[in-house]
Amino acid sequence: MIGINSDRLRCRFDTMAKIGATLRGGMHRLALSHEDKVARDLLGSWCRDCGFELTVDRIGNMFATRPGLNPDLPPLLIGSHLDSQPYAGAYDGPVGVLAALEVLEALDENDIPTNMPIQLVNWSNEEGARFRPPLLASGVFAGVHDLDFALSVQDSKGLSFREELANIGYDGKCKPGWPISGYIEIHIEQGTVLEDAGIPIGIVTGVVGIADIKVIVQGEDAHAGPLPMSKRRDSLVGAAEMILTAREIGCRHAPEARVTVGRISVPSDSHSVVPGRTEFVLDLRHPDDVGLAALEAEAKAAFSAIAAKHQMSVAYESVWAYPPTLFDERLQKEIARAARELGHSHLRLPSRAGHDAWNLARVGPSAMIFIPCRGGISHNESEFAEFEHIAAAANVLLLTVIAWSNGDLRLQSPEIA
Ligand SMILES: [Zn+2]
Repeated sequence: MIGINSDRLRCRFDTMAKIGATLRGGMHRLALSHEDKVARDLLGSWCRDCGFELTVDRIGNMFATRPGLNPDLPPLLIGSHLDSQPYAGAYDGPVGVLAALEVLEALDENDIPTNMPIQLVNWSNEEGARFRPPLLASGVFAGVHDLDFALSVQDSKGLSFREELANIGYDGKCKPGWPISGYIEIHIEQGTVLEDAGIPIGIVTGVVGIADIKVIVQGEDAHAGPLPMSKRRDSLVGAAEMILTAREIGCRHAPEARVTVGRISVPSDSHSVVPGRTEFVLDLRHPDDVGLAALEAEAKAAFSAIAAKHQMSVAYESVWAYPPTLFDERLQKEIARAARELGHSHLRLPSRAGHDAWNLARVGPSAMIFIPCRGGISHNESEFAEFEHIAAAANVLLLTVIAWSNGDLRLQSPEIA
């Protein structure tokens, strides 16, 4: 049975995890930072050492290509991202990139030709922690974002993506976006479905719909001393009530819904001011359009009632909205078959986090393979995944890539029904 070299994968994972490592065992490797550059350089050197041609596009996405037998076929992309959230984990992203490299090498070492080229990809700025929005560069590749828009976005210090990409030397020459034969990404689940079920392989059915809405609560600034309690229009108190209500709405729509407030700002920001204005971002997630719309409608109705009760106004601005996306059924079947061949139990589940595959699904058949992560904890220094699960997923990817890239041959086999 052919397979990836799990010792080499583990060794590379450990080496990569040292770049931007935090004292508490996590990862701080923001997009286009010095650490991101060092991680990219290391990935590039590994790819070149293996003889794979390296390409960087104008938004900094990195590609390493193993040629196929038929140069006319578009490549099958496999990969993920090397950037991280601040003080986050070492598994979110690198698992998918390094497993992809292992797949390319396993194909070479086992002399397995593929009809189409196989292309490893490291997407720039998946996380969106330093440069918003997230999934930025895969969005450019897939035509969701304009290249000039993406290059013009700035971090909190006013440094542009364009400048910082040039500073780390990853302002490549080729135009982002070309036809693809598919995209497959391995990623940690970042939830607890697989762990609770004791199952190593998750076949992702799609990405839930996400609506992020800025909520602006307007009361009136006042001195914290003289103004009596009864006369205040304290926007932060109104926002606090809204946030608790948002949580209740999420619980009412369990188990499918997720409702979160993770960002709040009070522009007056002073001990001695009754805050007249508070802004927070409401993050709504649901696997279907109707459910997502219901969450938004319920939240807005409840917030209006709370604002009226406190004699305040409330306004909304869409921050971003991603409709629910379904992944390719045929690819999901191939992944399931690969898992079965290898003796790994698997289940189907939706992703409740955004991933680059969400963008890629617009331009070609796309799919994801999830592995469990301990306690569902992610975007956290204590993030952890079992190495045997990483290796299992890499082997599932290897078989899936072979099957997909030789699809014409495999489709003639009666067992593929
Ligand atoms: Zn990720």
